[in-house]
Amino acid sequence: MAPVLAKWWTPLESNKVLCTLCPRFCKIGDGQTGFCFIRKNEGGKLYQNGYGTSTGFAVDPIEKKPLNHFFPGSTILSFGTVGCNLGCRFCQNWNISKSRLDESRSMKDLTAEKVVQLAVNHKCPSIAYTYNDPTIWGEWVIDIAKIARQAEIKNVMVTSGYITHEAREEIYPFIDAANVDLKAITDTFYHKLTFSHLLDVLDTIVWLVNETDVWVELTNLVIPGFNDHPDEMNKMVDWILENIGDEVPIHFTAFHPDFKMKSTPPTPPGTLTKTRNLAMEKGLKYVYVGNVYDVNGQTTYCPHCHKSLIVRDWHTVISIDLIDETCECGQKIPIIRN
Ligand SMILES: [Zn+2]
Repeated sequence: MAPVLAKWWTPLESNKVLCTLCPRFCKIGDGQTGFCFIRKNEGGKLYQNGYGTSTGFAVDPIEKKPLNHFFPGSTILSFGTVGCNLGCRFCQNWNISKSRLDESRSMKDLTAEKVVQLAVNHKCPSIAYTYNDPTIWGEWVIDIAKIARQAEIKNVMVTSGYITHEAREEIYPFIDAANVDLKAITDTFYHKLTFSHLLDVLDTIVWLVNETDVWVELTNLVIPGFNDHPDEMNKMVDWILENIGDEVPIHFTAFHPDFKMKSTPPTPPGTLTKTRNLAMEKGLKYVYVGNVYDVNGQTTYCPHCHKSLIVRDWHTVISIDLIDETCECGQKIPIIRN
């Protein structure tokens, strides 16, 4: 495939360019790539080298993204490219996010039409842009998402939310749902462990929930000793309640030792349960745990009468007990179904 010119950049002096896709604002010299590895300056122009690539496709339960309130019980065609605009030391997908294009093996030239056709062939009502952060290949996402829309297939971003206003306003009109990582509630954590900044992420979350039609769920990977202190969890829940309300689902998921944090222990299931209880006691209505076996922690309960409405076993939906998105007690549940 011919190189595809990137969106979101401006030329600078001596053939450099300024990438305006994410708040990192990389200044990229001729022949160099940005921090994400896949946006490359060639001859003073920025190219999107992730376009037309994939590290492989999977048909996953949508609960694995995780999304519990968007097309529950459905499958989703999932894929990613390589590179990332964050540098998380605890990355759970580092073999993808930290590989450069020339190291990736299973990539092949693709078209947007072929990706959508794959979703159709596998009877997936939606496509997930995931594994690495799809923000960095937003141009490819937009082109696939446009064709998916014509085929009545939904588009899902699984992202850190580290993106500029300029780019998000062009990408998200084509997106139906997003799972955004809220990795912690302190900038110290974001700065030291991810090489990015908290405020930009919070800004994206508020914008998505309050200013767009995108369905949003949050994920917080709970890392022992780094972001699991009850004071921090309290602060995070307070921020959510104050800024985006009590109905945005949040998933507290278990960390497993990986990448540059192999000596940090896995999250004890008890920590997740405690965190879930804390969040629900403070008023969040839809709180889940993930990466552990916990049917209770993965069930959707009615916040009014406490009836179990959607029962899940790992990523499998066992039962859905709703009539027109409403509990039998009359409580409306925020769920998007086909
Ligand atoms: Zn009820």
